[in-house]
Amino acid sequence: MRLCSCAMHLLVRWMRSCMRRSRCHLPRRLQEHLSYTRLIFNSVCHNSLLNCDLVTDSLFEPVFWMVDIITRWFGMVFVFLVIVLTSSVLLVAYFCLLPLALKTYSLGWLVWHLSYGHWNLVMIVFHYYKATTTSPGYPPKMKTDIAFVSVCKKCVRPKPARTHHCGICKTCILKMDHHCPWLNNCVGHFNHRYFFSFCLCMTLGCIYCSISGRNLFIDAYHALDSQTSAPLTFKDRMFHKSVIYMWVLTSTVAVALGALTLWHAVLISRGETSIERHINNKEAKRMAKRGKVYRNPFNYGTLNNWKVFFGVEKRSHWLTRVLLPSGHSPYGDGLTWDIYPIKKDMMPV
Ligand SMILES: [Zn+2]
Ligand SMILES: [Zn+2]
Repeated sequence: MRLCSCAMHLLVRWMRSCMRRSRCHLPRRLQEHLSYTRLIFNSVCHNSLLNCDLVTDSLFEPVFWMVDIITRWFGMVFVFLVIVLTSSVLLVAYFCLLPLALKTYSLGWLVWHLSYGHWNLVMIVFHYYKATTTSPGYPPKMKTDIAFVSVCKKCVRPKPARTHHCGICKTCILKMDHHCPWLNNCVGHFNHRYFFSFCLCMTLGCIYCSISGRNLFIDAYHALDSQTSAPLTFKDRMFHKSVIYMWVLTSTVAVALGALTLWHAVLISRGETSIERHINNKEAKRMAKRGKVYRNPFNYGTLNNWKVFFGVEKRSHWLTRVLLPSGHSPYGDGLTWDIYPIKKDMMPV
């Protein structure tokens, strides 16, 4: 009997110790798992530069990725569209308007239209070709002595001043302005001038077509709209429709591209790129809070900014480098930049 009670006592003690051990073990194991998961999460996500912008960027990363893919794919489609639409306007000009001008215009007007129209056409074709085929400029991949201002988080390479990363080209671009789908190329240090000259010449060409074709457009519109006059032949209907198509297209492009060109002209006058406009605005607001005034270090004064942009070093360059097609290299290497006021009176023209 005594032996039996002793055995029961031992069994109860063993069960109690087991229960206590299991009660202690479960939370500890769970705790270990939790701390291990937390350690993995922290080691993957920890970033000393973590802030609100980085979190937003990370959350929107899939959206940016989709936009990048679509833009990259549509790049060739947009270039094709520019070529097709420009060619269609040229076809209307050569096959519909030129024969009419040869019959009706005086010699003076004919010389003006032929000279201006062909100068404009050569400028558009040259600058579009150069803007699409010229590399915008990339920072060196090898180690150099050039002073860098930051490190690109995507390329993990040092970035010179005015350099920014392009998500579509997947590389850093010197003096990056923006990625242009209509060029299927980035606009940077080495092709910025070609891009702007193309926009300017295309706008001028569209304004020229829009003004000189206005009366023909009104005549064509009334001829197609009128019910009372004799029925038009197929050739006449095609002529009127072509004139209407050309006028509507060139007028629309003149307004849209004209606004873009004007905006870029303002930026060039201020010595800024599209990206720097946002950065400089932010910086100006930040410094204004401290009672200071921010000054863009790359603004050399309006006229000098234009001279630097077009590479004008003497008076004749306004003709040979601005008004005529020119393949000269831009001022500087895009890696190092002179800072105001060193360049205040750099080119006395
Ligand atoms: Zn980069
Ligand atoms: Zn790009």
